Amino acid sequence: MPILLIAEHNNKELKPFTLNAITAASQIDTDLHVFLIGNNCEAVAKSLSEIPAVKKVLHTEAAHYENYLAENFAPLVVKNAHNYSHIVSSANTFGKNLMPRIAALLNTSQVSDIIKVISPDTFLRPIYAGNAFATVKSTDTKKCITIRPTSFEPSEKSGGSASVEKIEAAEEFSGSKFIKREEVKSDRPELGTARIVISGGRGMQSGDNFKLINAIADKLNAAIGASRAAVDAGYISNEHQVGQTGKVVVPDLYIAVGISGAIQHLAGMKESKIIVAINKDGEAPIFSVADYGLEADLFEALPQFLDELNKLNSIQK
Ligand SMILES: Cc1cc2nc3c(=O)[nH]c(=O)nc-3n(C[C@H](O)[C@H](O)[C@H](O)COP(=O)(O)OP(=O)(O)OC[C@H]3O[C@@H](n4cnc5c(N)ncnc54)[C@H](O)[C@@H]3O)c2cc1C
Repeated sequence: MPILLIAEHNNKELKPFTLNAITAASQIDTDLHVFLIGNNCEAVAKSLSEIPAVKKVLHTEAAHYENYLAENFAPLVVKNAHNYSHIVSSANTFGKNLMPRIAALLNTSQVSDIIKVISPDTFLRPIYAGNAFATVKSTDTKKCITIRPTSFEPSEKSGGSASVEKIEAAEEFSGSKFIKREEVKSDRPELGTARIVISGGRGMQSGDNFKLINAIADKLNAAIGASRAAVDAGYISNEHQVGQTGKVVVPDLYIAVGISGAIQHLAGMKESKIIVAINKDGEAPIFSVADYGLEADLFEALPQFLDELNKLNSIQK
């Protein structure tokens, strides 16, 4: 039976993690169908049909799918799940909200946050904040899987020609209703997909001091992250939190400033390709995962770093 992947999008374009999920799903089985649920999202259907790994696009349009509400999506997916062996989505807020509802309605045990496909029924997933890995075999006939997007490369976007099948909408769920969306708009790259991330911790001492981080992020075209201590202290909002209860990031370069390196923080960034740590405490655990460590006061080091960046003509974006 084919695999059904639920696309994440904003009715205009696909969210990038859907491409990573497509790679993971096509490692389970190459017969991959993608379910697009939205409103006035023809352009997204077209872009999905051009992805070579996608064999068919299921496309449902209705006004009540305009603003993603998992309460509306889940019954529609379940209604169309009979022909599929696996239902797959990303293990981000989209998938974490949606997949448990689908799994519960299908009476199946979800396998969450997989980082590797070992076989169609066996997967690797991190446990204990990434300090151990569990190999999980699912014996359910229908498997609900969420994938950790940063563990899979994005799929190719063009060259395919999948068919698009229109699927009838399900009834609108009356128990909850979309009121409004509050999104932080930023010109900076998204934290989850940025090539460079610079994060500040409690050592920043105040929200105002994050301007030192912002200035460097501007120069490097980097996303801004934070430790939970910095978020809890109100220095920065929680969509910047990196770690076990925040975002998992795997950038080419992660710069941790004034962050001690608690395991819950490491769980969100230790797979980064190059880690740089700036901390005045030479014994801080962050240095044990850092490729480059600078034992220094951040209030001296960051301005010097910025000066050096200002001397460079340009940074490749
Ligand atoms: C269930 C659970 C989930 C959690 N989830 C997360 C999570 O998702 N993400 C997360 O980050 N944490 C998480 N935590 C919290 C985590 O345990 C730590 O408390 C937190 O990461 C500490 O943040 P920090 O490193 O900024 O602060 P601290 O541990 O207080 O470290 C501050 C660091 O700044 C350095 N410093 C201070 N002043 C300067 C200066 N002037 N110059 C240079 N360095 C300086 C200090 O030497 C110190 O190492 C979680 C905890 C629990 C229990």
